[in-house]
Amino acid sequence: RGKWRRVVRVLKELEEACETSVGRLKQVVDAMAVEMHAGLASEGGSKLKMLLTYVDNLPDGNELGTHYALDLGGTNFRVLSIQLQGNRSSILEHDVERRPIPQHLMTSTGNDLFDFIASSLKEFIDKGNDSEVLLGGKRDLGFTFSFPTKQNSISSGVLIKWTKGFSIGDMVGKDVAESLEQAMTKKGLNMRVTALINDTVGTLALGHYHDADTVAAVIIGTGTNACYLERTDAIIKRQGLLTTSGFMVVNMEWGNFWSSHLPRTSYDIDLDCDSPNPNDQGFEKMISGMYLGDIVRRVILRMSQESDIFGLGGSSRLSMSFVLTTPLMAEMHEDRSLDLRDVARILKDILGIPEVSLKARKLVVRICDVVTRRAARLVAAGILGILKKMGRDGTGGITGTRSRSDVNMKRTVVAVEGGLYTNYTMFREYLHEAMIEILGEEIAKNVILKVTEDGSGIGAALVAASHSSNY
Ligand code: ADP
Repeated sequence: RGKWRRVVRVLKELEEACETSVGRLKQVVDAMAVEMHAGLASEGGSKLKMLLTYVDNLPDGNELGTHYALDLGGTNFRVLSIQLQGNRSSILEHDVERRPIPQHLMTSTGNDLFDFIASSLKEFIDKGNDSEVLLGGKRDLGFTFSFPTKQNSISSGVLIKWTKGFSIGDMVGKDVAESLEQAMTKKGLNMRVTALINDTVGTLALGHYHDADTVAAVIIGTGTNACYLERTDAIIKRQGLLTTSGFMVVNMEWGNFWSSHLPRTSYDIDLDCDSPNPNDQGFEKMISGMYLGDIVRRVILRMSQESDIFGLGGSSRLSMSFVLTTPLMAEMHEDRSLDLRDVARILKDILGIPEVSLKARKLVVRICDVVTRRAARLVAAGILGILKKMGRDGTGGITGTRSRSDVNMKRTVVAVEGGLYTNYTMFREYLHEAMIEILGEEIAKNVILKVTEDGSGIGAALVAASHSSNY
């Protein structure tokens, strides 16, 4: 009896610490809008970097011709080409090629990495028989480079720092597009980087290509980030910034968002301390696929220390960081069998805990639920923070108050990508539910989350197309 009391107390404490009432979510919405404002007001004014992208117009469906893109953002990189016929509904993607980045290149030199990329691109183009490239017309290239860069124009940007296992010292501070162009020239490729973007911008571009009401994009996969269309006059830190459209896409780097209103637990604090980047990416560590499974593991570990409901003596696997991945956690959470056999199997095979009682399995499902529900609701609040900053949350902007006419809010589409959102049904449902709770049913009808697919690849080619001079 006593052991269950202790375990139930751990669960109760978790639930309380993860509490996301509508009231609290609204505070997060406000905090996000306020931090966005601060990040736009001055360099370093907020944990949100609010990076300028120099993307000032988004593809609208009228683009024409063949366009190429490179996508480098993780362990794979891809080359692709698309064909456009000026008709929004048709993107003829004629080829995609995915290649792993050889491990040694991730920590080698910039020259080695870009030579490898340029060779792959050349092989790809040689195979495609693109007559224009062969005839010497300069080709546009979209380059998705999903590492933080400081841009000075749409086609250039300096690497701020590597992430995701890359560490090439001689590249930090260098212009990424220029390095690629030099490598392409060496290979005899007559191409120019017309658009250097990150993956969220690609997602926004692809979303906008298909639906002109798309004004923001969010990626919720292994990591998380968002970007949106901002008025240039609101970008105070760059006074006098002028674009023809009056708008610019801003890359928020929202994984680093932080606010005292975020519901934080002791497990989050421990996870952060144990991570290679403590005090960094605080929002991401509560919501993205990289971390959710590990938060659950930490709660189970705690319970196993408080009681013997997960066996005596403890399991050594349970102490290993990241053994419980988020897809496995989702499988336990969504186990619909009466005896929770998927939960039992994963506890046994992955965490080394055999023969767990049904009651304890139910507890595990409950933990998954608490952790995922918190994550999904915080993403909902984050998205609505963006819409609030844009004056599209039905309240009339950051300082405004609700008036009757505002309820006739514009249709607003947010492009969404990432495995956590697309593959994890419970996550998605909790996110939608929270949006309705915060906005109210009437206003929520105007906010549409639309899944795009492969914005980081196709989107880059589209931005290259819409910023190219030859169509
Ligand atoms: P990435 O973000 O790595 O570029 P994705 O957008 O495809 O790629 O996201 C993959 C991430 O999504 C995985 O790391 C995992 O955390 C999460 N994920 C994938 N499938 C599932 C699933 N079925 N349930 C829960 N999370 C999932």
